[in-house]
Amino acid sequence: MPKTAAPLQYKRVLVKVSGEAMMGSNPFGIDETTIAAIAKDLTDAVDAGGEICCVVGGGNIFRGISLATHGMNRTAADHIGMLATVMNGLALHAAIEANGKHARVMSAIPMQSVCEAFSRDKAIYHMKKGRVVIFVAGIGNPYFTTDTTAVLRAAEMDCHAVIKATQVDGVYSADPKKDPTAKRYDTLTYQEALEKHLKVMDATAIALARDAHMPLIVCKITQEGGITGVLNGTAKFSVVTDA
Ligand code: UDP
Repeated sequence: MPKTAAPLQYKRVLVKVSGEAMMGSNPFGIDETTIAAIAKDLTDAVDAGGEICCVVGGGNIFRGISLATHGMNRTAADHIGMLATVMNGLALHAAIEANGKHARVMSAIPMQSVCEAFSRDKAIYHMKKGRVVIFVAGIGNPYFTTDTTAVLRAAEMDCHAVIKATQVDGVYSADPKKDPTAKRYDTLTYQEALEKHLKVMDATAIALARDAHMPLIVCKITQEGGITGVLNGTAKFSVVTDA
């Protein structure tokens, strides 16, 4: 039952949780305190009336490209990368359930004794039941990233936006930590993001978002109000859209 009656600006959203976000201040792996905070942020958004799904990355454990550059077959390396995302998804699921809330993990690579296989209809059913749906194993194919997966799944799920939580409160013309003159954008177009090589998501993901007319929201992971603040429009964020 929603705690607030205020209408939400975005109701059904997909949150991209990068592997990096899961490692906290550690150099790699999963930080339990960090993951518990992410879990709470997601379920708070459900309690506020949101329908929440997420795509988890795997870069905190493994990136296919890193072994591929050392000579491993890229497809094999990417399969390992996708399995890394499964570990992160299971950890996030456990953190949500430990908090007395509900979530389901759905994998693009079926592994029936571990989690559910991806199904659009079932994912929507779970979200409507107030469960956080965690998509793992990317899209199940090598040569893709979890950014692209995030946009693809958001489009399939009829989400109102993809939320990418980062270290900064929006899209900047340069890294604001290194360049004090960096300009922050409240809104920008997909074309601008692509042409100016702004660090929103990778180019394939941005191009797919443009084709699917899927708004991309960039916000700060530790912001006050969390994901709920994006849903009800009280948080600070940048939006990448058509116009
Ligand atoms: N990956 C893949 N296909 C997909 C999604 C991911 O092969 O559809 C692999 C790829 O090797 C990638 C790794 O999984 O490096 C982890 O994903 P990503 O690098 O996107 O994670 P993040 O940067 O979000 O932590």
